[in-house]
Amino acid sequence: MADTRVVVVGAGVIGLILAKELALRGIATNVYDGKRSVEEGADKASGILSKTGLGRIGIDYRSAIVNELDGAVLHAGNESLRVKASSVQAYVLDRGRLAKRCLEEAERAGAEIAFERRLGAEELRKLANDNSNIIVGADGAVSGVAAAFGFPPIKEYVLTYKAEYSGASAEDSHSVELFFANKHARRFFGWSAPYSSSMVELGIGTSSTAKRSSASAFTDFINDGNVRDVVEGAERMAGHASIIPLGSRRITIKGNVMLVGDAAGQVKATTGGGIIFGAACARIAADVISAHIEHGTALASYEKMWRRQYGMDLKLHAALHNYYSSMSPRSLALLMKMSKLFGAEQFFSRYGDMDSPSTMLKRFVLRGLTG
Ligand SMILES: Cc1cc2nc3c(=O)[nH]c(=O)nc-3n(C[C@H](O)[C@H](O)[C@H](O)COP(=O)(O)OP(=O)(O)OC[C@H]3O[C@@H](n4cnc5c(N)ncnc54)[C@H](O)[C@@H]3O)c2cc1C
Repeated sequence: MADTRVVVVGAGVIGLILAKELALRGIATNVYDGKRSVEEGADKASGILSKTGLGRIGIDYRSAIVNELDGAVLHAGNESLRVKASSVQAYVLDRGRLAKRCLEEAERAGAEIAFERRLGAEELRKLANDNSNIIVGADGAVSGVAAAFGFPPIKEYVLTYKAEYSGASAEDSHSVELFFANKHARRFFGWSAPYSSSMVELGIGTSSTAKRSSASAFTDFINDGNVRDVVEGAERMAGHASIIPLGSRRITIKGNVMLVGDAAGQVKATTGGGIIFGAACARIAADVISAHIEHGTALASYEKMWRRQYGMDLKLHAALHNYYSSMSPRSLALLMKMSKLFGAEQFFSRYGDMDSPSTMLKRFVLRGLTG
C-alpha cells in the first residue's frame, strides 16, 4: 500500500492538523479547500480554548493568543455563579492567526494544500473509487463528503451569530460570561468574551429546531438588560453567522471514506467547542491510516478508537446540554442558587475542567463539592 494517498477535504483547523499528522508519518497528503485563503471565514467562530487542551493539539498556538482567561460567570435569570481560578485556565485565540499557523505547520511537515479547489460529490466519488485513495471529510458542520457517501445526518445544529465591540466595558477582562436560560438563545446560550478591557465579543447560539435566524436572536440579545450595559456606547464591528453541530454522527467511517472534526460532530454539546476533541480525533485518524498503510489493519478501527477515547466525554457533554437546555429559566436559576450554597463556585474554581466532565466527575466523587 505504498502508493496510498490521503485526500483531506477541507483546510479548516482540523483538516490542517490531520494533514500535519499524516505528513509527519510520511504519508502522501493532499488537502483541498474551496475558500481563497486559510484565514477566510475564520472569524465566524470564537477561539476560547483551555490551556490544557491546547497543549495537546500539536500546534504552536502562541502567536494566536489575544487574551488570557482565569474565570467565568454563568448567568441564569437574576442568579450568577462566579468561577475564578488562581491561574490562567484558557486563552482567547485569534482564529485567523491559529488557522495560518496550522497551515504553516502542515506545509512544513510536507502536506500539499490547494485553495480555491472545492470538491463536488461526483469528483469525491470518483476519487473514492480509486482504492489507493483514502478520503477524509474535514469539511465542517454541513459536510458535503458525508452527504455524498450517505453518512447518517446530524440531527440538531446550533445557529450562531457573533460580533465584536470596540470601546465596550467588560466587568472583568479575564472572565468569560455565559447567559443561560436566555429567552433568545433556545437550547443554547449567549456569551461575552473579552479580548481586552475595551474589546469584547458578544455572541448567541440558538437551536436549529427553534427555526429562528441567529441574527435576529442576536439583536434581541444585545438589547437585553445586563448585556446592553456591556456594549452601551461601544462601536460594533462586523457580525458573522455560522453553525455548530450538536452531537456526533452515528457512523464516521465507510470503506475508504472517513469524517473528522465538525463533519463528524466531534464537538462538545455544552459549549460548541470543537477544536480540542476534533484535533484529538484527527490524531487517531492519522494513527489508524498509518497502521493501515504499514500493516494492512482495517480503517474501520477509527470509529471504535475515537469513541473509546472520547465518546464518554462527548456523551457527558450531550447529557449536560440536554439537562440545562430542557430546564425552565426559573429551575435553572434555582439550581444555580442551590449549587452555590453547596460550594459549587469554590469547587469549579479549583477543579473545573472545561473539556472533560468525566475528569471533573472523578474529582467530585473523590472530594465532594466542598472538599
Ligand atoms: C460562533 C462559534 C464559536 C465557536 N467557538 C469555539 C471555541 O470557542 N472553541 C472551540 O474549540 N471551538 C469553537 N467553535 C467550533 C469550532 O470553530 C469548530 O469546531 C472548528 O472550526 C471545526 O473545524 P473543522 O476543520 O472541522 O471545520 P471548519 O472550520 O468548518 O472547516 C471546514 C473547511 O472545509 C471547507 N470545505 C467545505 N466543503 C468543501 C468542499 N466540498 N471542498 C473543499 N473544501 C470544502 C470549508 O471551506 C472550510 O474551510 C465555534 C464555532 C462557532 C460557529
